Amino acid sequence: MQVAKYKNIYQITMLPKIFPINCFVIEQEDSLIVIDMGVKNFTKKVADIAEATKKTVTHLLLTHAHGDHTAGVNDFRTIFPDAQIGISERDQLLLDGDFSLKPDEVRTKINGGFPKITVHTDFTLHHGQTIGSLTVAATPGHTPGSVSFVDNISNAVIAGDAFQTQGGLAVSRTLKIKFPFPKIATWDYQTSINSAKRILAYKPKILCVGHGDMLIDPLEAMADAIELAERNMRNR
Ligand SMILES: [Zn+2]
Repeated sequence: MQVAKYKNIYQITMLPKIFPINCFVIEQEDSLIVIDMGVKNFTKKVADIAEATKKTVTHLLLTHAHGDHTAGVNDFRTIFPDAQIGISERDQLLLDGDFSLKPDEVRTKINGGFPKITVHTDFTLHHGQTIGSLTVAATPGHTPGSVSFVDNISNAVIAGDAFQTQGGLAVSRTLKIKFPFPKIATWDYQTSINSAKRILAYKPKILCVGHGDMLIDPLEAMADAIELAERNMRNR
């Protein structure tokens, strides 16, 4: 387990060398907001940060429903019973085991691994909602209800698996040989590209992702990754 800190953002990483999975703690003036909880061991590091900062964990926000982002949620709840846990309404259905497509969605199968246990959440997230310093942005594609969080303290975007940086920066569903798993787990490429553009439009100073290190000043690299993804779409 590895912890990196930049500005008000702590990135906790499980298996940093083999299969990195990230959890983020976004420090607020008087509280802490946690993003994603793929493994229960993250809770120990979150508790350490809470103790060191003497701040209370108020929320756990989930970028999407995949198991490597949600499997530790129930353990988190036992350790932080007062924290409110949120996920998008669309991905809540996936947590509930409903993998059917909505009438307005592309006819592509939803991919990736989901927790085998019932994951309990408290509220749903919607585009434009603010929670502390974070604004929710709908960024579907990796899953139909994937969201990102724009932090107005650091100008970071915490993008979940809309992008990956492990194996090289890529839009979700772009194959990176050194770390191909986000591609395999992604629902729809064109939707991912549209969301990647939406994230770029926020002009983040920091890009935080589910798998791989934070990227500082990421705009140019993001634009390149989007261009490559669009080229891949055209050549299909
Ligand atoms: Zn995922």
